Amino acid sequence: MHLAWHVTRKILLFVFLAIAVAVIVWWRNDRSEFNQQTSSSSQSAIQVKTTPTQTSFSKKQYSVNDPTSIWAVVNKGRVLPSDYIPANLTSPSIDLSDSSAADNMHLQASASAALEKLVTAAKADGLKLMLVSGYRSYATQSSVYSGYVSSSGQAFADSTSARAGHSEHQTGLAADLGALNGLCQLEKCFGDTPEGKWLATNAYKYGFIIRYQKNKTALTGYDYEPWHLRYVGGELAAEINKTDQTLEQFFDLPSYTGYPANGYQLKAGN
Ligand SMILES: [Zn+2]
Repeated sequence: MHLAWHVTRKILLFVFLAIAVAVIVWWRNDRSEFNQQTSSSSQSAIQVKTTPTQTSFSKKQYSVNDPTSIWAVVNKGRVLPSDYIPANLTSPSIDLSDSSAADNMHLQASASAALEKLVTAAKADGLKLMLVSGYRSYATQSSVYSGYVSSSGQAFADSTSARAGHSEHQTGLAADLGALNGLCQLEKCFGDTPEGKWLATNAYKYGFIIRYQKNKTALTGYDYEPWHLRYVGGELAAEINKTDQTLEQFFDLPSYTGYPANGYQLKAGN
């Protein structure tokens, strides 16, 4: 009995020690798993921080002073060289209001390709658009403006047309669009047509902005022109759409409602 108790005590002690060791081993394993988890989650937190976030919009990406730039800002105070002709004029494969051979049925290649996409998307939504007027040379713009002056006077001409060198149409990046049915062509009511409304909502998705907005005439110096689209590329068009600013406001450039005595001359390489 005495011996038996002695043996039993040893067995109990052994069992107790075994349980204690097991508990310690379990606890240590558990801690190391916990540590691995926390270290891996802190690693992924660091990775999230170091993963480059979407690059922020740079206003310096393209020049606003070079006539060849898709961001060239042309207005009553900023004039294009009289001999500037865009290098890559092409006629878009869409409905045109004139022969594809006509000068004003041409646009710069990038604007032309973007316009084709825009017109295709509008068509998918059941709306048919056509190009009414694209590129206009310095000489053409000069005669268009003179025509307005002789028919309606200079004040009217200046609010609805641009003097030569001051028209975005000379860049080959501006497109006057119309509904294929001809309704409200180059008239303010175009903005109320399904086609005009579609453009106001969707043009930016294809890199175009409505350059002369209804609520911005005091800044642009031009009447509301819901048909006049200016190609600036998708990135800038999205920014302009988001901020609801004119090109001048967006780039912190002066707004002109009239022609200053000495305008800023845009120049290639600037
Ligand atoms: Zn226009």
